[in-house]
Amino acid sequence: MSSEYTNNSFEQGSRISHSYIINDEEVKQYLNNCEIPVEAEDVELNDALKCDIVYPEKNTIEFIVAVDGESTTIPVKKSFPSSLITFFQFGSLLIKGSDLDEMEKKPFVSPSDINKLKKIEREKFVLPTKNVALKKDIDFRTTVREAIQEFYKKKHSGKTSILETLYWLIFEQYNPTSAKSNYKLSQCPHCGTNNILLEKDKMDFKNYSWKCTKINCEKEILITDVLRLFEKVDKVENADASGIITYLEKATESFFMIHTIKSLIEIQDGLVDRFLFVKDGPLSFGGETANMHKPMQALITYLNQNNRINLVGVETSGAFVDHARQIKDKLDPGQVFLLNNEHIYTYIQVGNHKEQQYGSTSYYSGKFIYKSFDKRVYVLTIPVENHNTYYNQPEIDDLKNIQEILMNIDKLRCDIYENALIPVAVANKLISLTNHPSSNILERFAKKSMGR
Ligand SMILES: [Zn+2]
Repeated sequence: MSSEYTNNSFEQGSRISHSYIINDEEVKQYLNNCEIPVEAEDVELNDALKCDIVYPEKNTIEFIVAVDGESTTIPVKKSFPSSLITFFQFGSLLIKGSDLDEMEKKPFVSPSDINKLKKIEREKFVLPTKNVALKKDIDFRTTVREAIQEFYKKKHSGKTSILETLYWLIFEQYNPTSAKSNYKLSQCPHCGTNNILLEKDKMDFKNYSWKCTKINCEKEILITDVLRLFEKVDKVENADASGIITYLEKATESFFMIHTIKSLIEIQDGLVDRFLFVKDGPLSFGGETANMHKPMQALITYLNQNNRINLVGVETSGAFVDHARQIKDKLDPGQVFLLNNEHIYTYIQVGNHKEQQYGSTSYYSGKFIYKSFDKRVYVLTIPVENHNTYYNQPEIDDLKNIQEILMNIDKLRCDIYENALIPVAVANKLISLTNHPSSNILERFAKKSMGR
């Protein structure tokens, strides 16, 4: 979650100027020709997309894992404000379902109860963001790529690195019968040659890298280049990586989650079935990293054949959350409203995308609104195997194990923050950078990790 800067007097100022602008004739005329979302009373919910949820009698989910990340960008030296670094922190939180049952008996969950739940692993990482050179004779793009690769090289919760998890995911190592032997990279980060084939057997296992196949280039391609973040970072012109911060943060959260899934599968067959993974934000890959939704889709499809993979994305802000609040009274408690293309493009993301399949290039999940039995509304995503057609005609059965997942979502309700869930709220709070180190400490940390 990126920290946002708010200032009341600024907001007030902009509100005053808004009303001034709306009274302008020319602006009014323009607005008349614009399509803007309709008022709550004009929203019609297609009854066919409403589904009643029946909680199963038995809860087979014993553990809940939440992943969250945060980033703060600061100047390296006060006197050089144009040199920036970004400080990231990621955390995974493990909650035992039985601890939640204890808490459920109380009318209000106190911060000390939440303290009992915390068992968070924190990982820190510094990205040179603007005008920072780590070593001489290396271009800025390479500096950024190497920083990401180094971070993914760290061992996380146990014995293996995130690099290994990335390899496992893109070459389908979870599936012994998979024939996946190469991965097509959009372009070489050095020479720009398109569609470079990264062959599984030709990877250098020491560095998780390849040599570019183009003669005269033959430079190193890193496995983390499949995230394509380098495409947003110029080699020399403006040494600026600020455009990748959010996508890197979100993708890394996903990889922490995939890493835990992999670890569970390796520990014991069937163990992963007893877990629920809760991710802040939708289950998707954004921006340059969007292509990762395909290997993720393949993993989900495979796991669903033999196991049960309980995964849910929780949105806490944005247009979908605003819409959910708007239509809250049109749903009964315990009811789900499945979102299809028509509804999304009519009421939530207006504009001319009606021909398009929602999220087809980034999502591996189906999105819906859930009104719980205690009348809270949530915007959630659960993996679907048919995401290419799902949003034409969503069906409740496409969302595997939805009843049991929602039963657990209900148990995770958090009384401290409106419509927040305990794991997400706690993970947010525990890894929050603004709560802990001052920017001085961050600066010192950054300099240490840059070897100054
Ligand atoms: Zn090349």
